Amino acid sequence: MRIIAFEVREDEVKIFEQLKAEFQMEIVYVREALKEENAYQAAGFEGVTILAGSKLDKVLLNELKNYGVKYISTRSVGYNHIDLKYAKEIGLKISNAAYPPYSVADYTVMLMLMTLRHYKQALFRGNVNDYSLTGLQGREMRSLTVGIIGSGRIGTAVIKNLTGFGCRILVYDKNRSEAAEKMAEYVELDRIYRECDMISLHTPLLDSTYHMINRESIDRMQDQVILINCARGELMSLPDLIQGIESKKIGALGLDVVEQEDGIYHRDLRTDIITNRDMAYLRQFPNVIMTQHMAFYTEEAVESMVRLGVENLVQCINGEDCCFLL
Ligand code: NAD
Repeated sequence: MRIIAFEVREDEVKIFEQLKAEFQMEIVYVREALKEENAYQAAGFEGVTILAGSKLDKVLLNELKNYGVKYISTRSVGYNHIDLKYAKEIGLKISNAAYPPYSVADYTVMLMLMTLRHYKQALFRGNVNDYSLTGLQGREMRSLTVGIIGSGRIGTAVIKNLTGFGCRILVYDKNRSEAAEKMAEYVELDRIYRECDMISLHTPLLDSTYHMINRESIDRMQDQVILINCARGELMSLPDLIQGIESKKIGALGLDVVEQEDGIYHRDLRTDIITNRDMAYLRQFPNVIMTQHMAFYTEEAVESMVRLGVENLVQCINGEDCCFLL
């Protein structure tokens, strides 16, 4: 059996090599994301695995189909980089990697605490021997109402983490999770906006969730609300976040993802010109913490992402039951 893996990072290779031996298969590695220019490399492979930097639109999906590809696995939970509907139309099977939620859930709580305790400012000050306390007074989690939007695997794991802090937890999702229900109160979205001191997003990027955080929803929130996003940047309107920070309606932002991060995050751009102006502007505020889409990035999660990405393809190619998105 042979598969081809695109967007392979150095830290993934060891795991791919283990799986290669385990399944006695051949795996061809390509460092770059899959795009029209290099799709020819997939010719003759039934199975292709990618990460979220490979944007599989209609043109690319057609190209892959013509090269004989049948199965595509993304080694990510999110799948908004793939035109799933069209893939289904042309008979391509797509799977994602529902790896354990703990890496992102832990990171979410870290961003919550960092924003609450003004950690960015404290860290910056220490670097120039400024050990003053002015402006650094924080708040305790136990005195807050925290809102979780999306109670899937990650949202529920965040709620579990939060139970140790003793905060009041409200949650909104169209689908209720039995586990979340035991730890938090399900409410309508409007109550999340109106009552929460801190709101954390854990929904996929869908047409229905695109820019759900915008000027109008921010207006409905508590003054000095803290917003955390470890899901997808496009859930939030970047200009509206800037407006919220400038007007001091938003107290702090903890963002592991940002709108139009593609081509920027996961690269060393020290000597390049960054064209996402809004992102660069937002980053400079003292109460905005931004990281490079790395909430997932733990040894445990990467091991699982690569394993699931490969196993999904092996199962499909062997004609066994496998978990497709559509
Ligand atoms: P999941 O599918 O288990 O849960 C998503 C939940 O969102 C579901 O319960 C669903 O009902 C809910 N939902 C969908 N639309 C909604 C809406 N309009 N309002 C409220 N809830 C809605 O997914 P998950 O594993 O918990 O992951 C969530 C998202 O986190 C992924 O889609 C991905 O985009 C993101 N993610 C980010 C990172 C990172 O490194 N920053 C890593 C993994 C996943």
